[in-house]
Amino acid sequence: MDANTKPVVAIDGPAASGKGTLARRLAAHYGFAYLDTGSLYRAVGQAVLAAGKDPADEAAALAAARALDVTKIDERSIRTREAGEAASLVAVMPGVRAAILHLQRDFARNPPGGKKGAVLDGRDIGTVVCPDAAAKIYVTARPEIRAHRRWLELKGSGSTVSEAQVLEDTKERDRRDAGREASPMKPAEDAHLLDTSDLSIEAAFGEAVRIIDKSMS
Ligand code: C5P
Repeated sequence: MDANTKPVVAIDGPAASGKGTLARRLAAHYGFAYLDTGSLYRAVGQAVLAAGKDPADEAAALAAARALDVTKIDERSIRTREAGEAASLVAVMPGVRAAILHLQRDFARNPPGGKKGAVLDGRDIGTVVCPDAAAKIYVTARPEIRAHRRWLELKGSGSTVSEAQVLEDTKERDRRDAGREASPMKPAEDAHLLDTSDLSIEAAFGEAVRIIDKSMS
């Protein structure tokens, strides 16, 4: 890492593994800027749905990705189950990924607010977006545990979807994210695995700090 490069922490893993909560807390702890890269794919998926188009329609998805304005993402509308599904459909398209790649790298290179580093979470941060990240963690948890967490979140925001359906969605999303050709979800060779299935948020955070402190020392 040269003297002008700011440290990047890459947090990858499947849906509802706890990586978002962890990444946000890590950013606050280290005084780094935080980017939830899933929100970019969700915003593209949601924009396609809002335009009345099918998220599998490549031309519509590409247009939405190129028009993406990160300062105008509506947090509420991108957190729905439909937006999550649409996100994983547009995320298989190499053109969409390319359009979003430079936004992510810009963020990592020039963390907003003059912050001294950046934490990015997603599926391909350690493998593709920031392969030179100073620390890489791949966060996992058993599918049933992830589905339960996601179901509680959805229920909390008024959704009546069943837990069994959320488990099905979770497994389908894993298959799509790990099976696609373009930047599939997988741990980088030099990533540290962190299974949060049986860990409290506090314990997972402590473990992540230990890994990062060691990687950055
Ligand atoms: O993390 P989240 O569930 O919000 O991500 C939504 C979808 O966006 C994922 O299922 C995945 O298909 C896609 N994604 C991706 N690469 C990233 C982040 C998210 O393909 N770096």
